[in-house]
Amino acid sequence: MSGRREADIVVVGAGAAGLAAAAAARAGGLDVVLLEAKDRIGGRAFTDPTGLPSGPFDVGCHWMHDASENPFTAVALATGCGFRNKTHPGRMPHWLALGGRLADAAERHAVADYYAASFEAIRAAGERGEDRPALDVIDAASPHYPLFHGWCAAIMAVPPARLSTLDYATCLDTGENWPVERGYGALIAAAFAGAEVDLNCPVRRIDRSGPRLRVETDRGAIDAEDVILAVSTTVLADEAIRIEPGLPDDVRAALDAVRLGHAERIGVSLDAKLDGLGDHVAGHILTKAGDEIGLMIHEFGRAELTGYLSGDLARDLGSAGPEAAFAFHRDALKDIFGSGIEARITGWAASQWSGDPDIRGAYSAARPGQAALRARLSEPVDERLHLAGEATHPNRFASAHGAYSSGLRAVSAVRARRKAAGLE
Ligand SMILES: Cc1cc2nc3c(=O)[nH]c(=O)nc-3n(C[C@H](O)[C@H](O)[C@H](O)COP(=O)(O)OP(=O)(O)OC[C@H]3O[C@@H](n4cnc5c(N)ncnc54)[C@H](O)[C@@H]3O)c2cc1C
Repeated sequence: MSGRREADIVVVGAGAAGLAAAAAARAGGLDVVLLEAKDRIGGRAFTDPTGLPSGPFDVGCHWMHDASENPFTAVALATGCGFRNKTHPGRMPHWLALGGRLADAAERHAVADYYAASFEAIRAAGERGEDRPALDVIDAASPHYPLFHGWCAAIMAVPPARLSTLDYATCLDTGENWPVERGYGALIAAAFAGAEVDLNCPVRRIDRSGPRLRVETDRGAIDAEDVILAVSTTVLADEAIRIEPGLPDDVRAALDAVRLGHAERIGVSLDAKLDGLGDHVAGHILTKAGDEIGLMIHEFGRAELTGYLSGDLARDLGSAGPEAAFAFHRDALKDIFGSGIEARITGWAASQWSGDPDIRGAYSAARPGQAALRARLSEPVDERLHLAGEATHPNRFASAHGAYSSGLRAVSAVRARRKAAGLE
């Protein structure tokens, strides 16, 4: 901030949305201050380059969803950043462990059929305009339900009881999910390399009572014509940033309805790949205690087993400390591969998004019955205050490219206002 007192725009939060907004506004000649609470950019897009002995670890986003339409695919191509331009063939899971034993092909196909039928029923209800808990429209008495409970939460961050059928049907998806070899977080950081950002500078309060908006930080205040708030819905719903006068009731209701669900990643490196498993295998585990874990086996040919926790399990382990998350994953692996696997672990890394005060979850999910409120988030709060971030995208929410595009949308709204006011 270095003594700055004024700017055309203050952007709060240097995740994919805030970075995109600041870059677009600067490219259009506007004077922008970008403030970030953490000591790094990227937010939920973060690769720890030395996270695992076997390679970099994506702590947050990992797959370029909608890859053929995703702007980061072009960045990866332009920068020579490797990615796997294939989605897993066939229906998941490709490998399945049930209560400590490996399932056979017939069991896997039965599970895949159940997944497909359940998601189809949820989508159909949403497409009929019904906004109800997904649990109401699926066969929850099926023996495959406990697995689906976790898999649904891995995709949408909430289990079927808390997934809105309408929100699910609204979320577009080309089905192309391409992982990035050196990490999606690293790719996004590279896309914005050199961006001017004030790190370690949390915004505490925004005063919107005067003719200009005043953004207050521990390093002083900045007055701006417009503010783009590119932080998570849960951060805003919890009022971690004081906004005075408070946000309008309809905006507060929308933020509360579209809070983040929960998901966490746990990477484990081994001394060597496990025999007979192949590479890039998408597996699911139902533990002896009945919890579901997504398992990526040997991605990019690495001796790695990456677990994906979701829903309430992720909420609890994602705020209990990384050791607890690792211990849970390690014990699940021991149940399947035998206790000898523990000695083969050469390193591990675990995310803690739910316990991160700057994020507070994984990605947004509208509460059943309230999916329509999401649309309010992409409209300006008032003439000068705009929301951005994945949750504000009408149909590509819960993704990094949706966040990116929401940042561009917020800048378009600022420019439209400035033109109307004769400022440009
Ligand atoms: C485990 C996990 C896996 C995921 N997998 C994928 C995936 O494979 N593909 C995909 O596309 N998406 C995935 N996502 C979702 C994706 O990461 C997010 O949707 C996207 O990165 C969100 O970007 P954003 O800019 O909206 O918000 P954020 O990344 O949350 O950015 C908000 C920023 O605001 C900062 N901030 C908060 N409070 C303040 C304050 N008071 N002052 C200043 N700054 C503040 C935060 O530190 C943060 O940097 C995943 C997310 C998680 C958690």
